[in-house]
Amino acid sequence: MVVVMGTAATEEDIQRVVDHVRVVGGEAFVSRGEHRTIVGLVGDIEAFQDLNLAVLPGVDDVLRVSRPYKLVSRETHPEPSTVMVRDVPIGPDTFTFIAGPCAVENEAQTFAAAEMARAAGANVLRGGAFKPRTSPYAFQGLGEQGLKILAECRERTGLPVVTEVIEARDVELVTRYADMLQIGTRNMQNFMLLKEAGRGHLPVMLKRGLAATIEEWLMAAEYIAQQGNLQVVLCERGIRSFEPATRNTLDLSAVPLVHTMSHLPVIVDPSHAAGRRELVVPLARAAVAVGADGVMIDLHPCPDEALCDGPQALTKDEVDGLSADLGRLAEIVGRRPLTAPPRK
Ligand code: PEP
Ligand code: MN
Repeated sequence: MVVVMGTAATEEDIQRVVDHVRVVGGEAFVSRGEHRTIVGLVGDIEAFQDLNLAVLPGVDDVLRVSRPYKLVSRETHPEPSTVMVRDVPIGPDTFTFIAGPCAVENEAQTFAAAEMARAAGANVLRGGAFKPRTSPYAFQGLGEQGLKILAECRERTGLPVVTEVIEARDVELVTRYADMLQIGTRNMQNFMLLKEAGRGHLPVMLKRGLAATIEEWLMAAEYIAQQGNLQVVLCERGIRSFEPATRNTLDLSAVPLVHTMSHLPVIVDPSHAAGRRELVVPLARAAVAVGADGVMIDLHPCPDEALCDGPQALTKDEVDGLSADLGRLAEIVGRRPLTAPPRK
């Protein structure tokens, strides 16, 4: 059962709901979104019904949600949500362009990549400081030093930063430097990590597991929401199929489908899906057309020298061309392309 608080509900109103639920032995999980707070109830539904929570001040609605994922479901929150990454919205009215290197390799490479992203009109900078690599012999990322370089890029470019966190114990560290946490495909069902990110205050980009069903993906988002954080952006990045010609198979159908199932924004990462530069631009264009709320693109000043995922990184000319396409297509589908934030 879920209690949807009105947009004008006060902290007192929310606490009153929690207290009532506790009186009958139930548990209440308060999840805060950009505009609304939702309280998920766990316990005896009959007892909750007797409480008549709907008449309490600040309560908009009390719902029995039929889906296994509740707080992130469209049933509880019919309007699509907007998630804010600092001042940059990701949601139904806009189209958000996230770009940057796969990995933070050193200062010079990351500064150059950040300037490429900004010059191309990106709204958010991506870059991994903790890299979950298939091979333990591959570059694993610079760790905290990489986070510092990303924070410096934010100072220089004004772009907020999204970066991956791969362990629950690093959430606090990454939160000190980042504007949005990324949980990668390999960790989509790392429940301790999901819960820790859910207890934090930063928005979370949750990538689809490489063999996850859409329902499993939404249940993973529910773990984050249940801990109090409704600021979740879903990222489709390709799933494993029988086809080895691309790195993964981009499931574009997931975008409009998830929009019918969940109020959370959905973005697309065509770079990790395709694994090949020449496919990234057409897939990114297709993402706009199917209604994605944004895309995330790998770029690199010298892709041939990249320590991670060079073959899928776009060059300066490619990313500039893509950006122009995205702007035009976004307008056709009724979305407002975002303008670059001011430099500090
Ligand atoms: C990434 O975005 O850098 C990444 C590792 O992606 P994924 O988790 O989708 O493989
Ligand atoms: Mn990568």
